[in-house]
Amino acid sequence: MVKYARCNAILSLALDASGEGCRYMSKDDTEDGVVEDMTKHMGAVHQVDAGELVANIRACTKTTRK
Ligand SMILES: [Zn+2]
Repeated sequence: MVKYARCNAILSLALDASGEGCRYMSKDDTEDGVVEDMTKHMGAVHQVDAGELVANIRACTKTTRK
């Protein structure tokens, strides 16, 4: 099973570098891995301090069976 979270589910108005809705998806074996990856993505692409959004990221993290 894999944990995943979509950037757009957390930052509902997030746009990517070309101004499109951000479709970035973090995947990892653990929720902590997803949080870490998404934190880096938000800082690098959206200039968002995800430190305050950790609870939000966790709430948006889902599990797939793939
Ligand atoms: Zn994004």
